[in-house]
Amino acid sequence: MKSIGKWLFALLFLILLPLTLPVMAKSAEVNSLRWTVHNEGNPPYVRIAMDLTRAVHAEAAIDDAGKNFEVIMRNTAMGNVASQYDMDPRAVDFATLSEKDGDTYLDVALTKPQKIDDIRVFALRLDAKMKKPHRLVVDIPVKGTIQSNKRKAISPASSAASTSGKSYNVSNEAKNVLKGKVICIDPGHGGTDVGAVGHVGNKTVYEKDITLSIALPLRDMLTSAGAKVVMTRTTDKDVYGPWADATPELQARCDVANEAHADAFVSIHIDSFSNSTVDGTTAYYNAKSSKDLLLAQMMHQATLNSLSIPDRGVRSNDFYVNVHTAMPSVLMEMGFITNSHRVKMLTSSWAPRSIAQSLFNGLVNYFAAIQ
Ligand SMILES: [Zn+2]
Repeated sequence: MKSIGKWLFALLFLILLPLTLPVMAKSAEVNSLRWTVHNEGNPPYVRIAMDLTRAVHAEAAIDDAGKNFEVIMRNTAMGNVASQYDMDPRAVDFATLSEKDGDTYLDVALTKPQKIDDIRVFALRLDAKMKKPHRLVVDIPVKGTIQSNKRKAISPASSAASTSGKSYNVSNEAKNVLKGKVICIDPGHGGTDVGAVGHVGNKTVYEKDITLSIALPLRDMLTSAGAKVVMTRTTDKDVYGPWADATPELQARCDVANEAHADAFVSIHIDSFSNSTVDGTTAYYNAKSSKDLLLAQMMHQATLNSLSIPDRGVRSNDFYVNVHTAMPSVLMEMGFITNSHRVKMLTSSWAPRSIAQSLFNGLVNYFAAIQ
């Protein structure tokens, strides 16, 4: 990456050095690098933001193949910051920070070739009022995505119930209570919507995969007890369509439940927060009927009974899927992907089945209570 000879383009930009200081005064320092995915963009993009102790002179370049992008921050040292980053593989294989001859280099290995004009690099100045330092921001588009206005509604058939799967031993009590009940399971997010993002070691993990891993054994347990299960998705896909806005995507999930005249709707999610010490489970409901709260209470209690997880309560809300489903519905947050202990548990081989079991117990208790 450092053989400048092969760079096809080189962009120069952004000088914010205070004029009163000699140019080679105290060097700047990169003391933080964060990245986030902005799925609401069109196209979506990965944003890399670096905090700097002062403004820097930076240059950007890309190699002939368009696969390696580099930002050189002149007269800048690496502070206490990691040197290697795994990012969203739809756009970036990995990125590295390194220091050489008094300059710091951000090197980004791109998943697909890009043009330098498609990658935005810009500076944000110190904002003392907002307590924001000097920042350098790089936006890398996710290539080959579908534009959000060219979508069609899915046919209900494509999200129809699946009865394939493993069979489970369930109690006669559960069979008596669940026989003939229609239950819609909604694994939160999917496809282009990865949901919350966490890390296990160097590995990036997505909420969408964890929610599906819980939903599938839950489906099989319910089916084994004689319930009819409709799934909003059974694979890693969008329910409405790729890059859909939130409203059609969430409405498509409600439609699956409403068209099946489900008796209950369970949306499975994993929470996230900027403070990694936060963890716990929350059951969200909307009091559109007298049974919504009961369903949330039963699901929440069953979770606390069988999983060792902090209690964040049963909470009223107006989440789209809770408001727009015609039956009692609950949105279960099964722990925080941003908590290192919880994310390890959520991605373990045993957790999905054990979480599914707790949700299954909650449904049995709910249907027993309203009999
Ligand atoms: Zn979610």
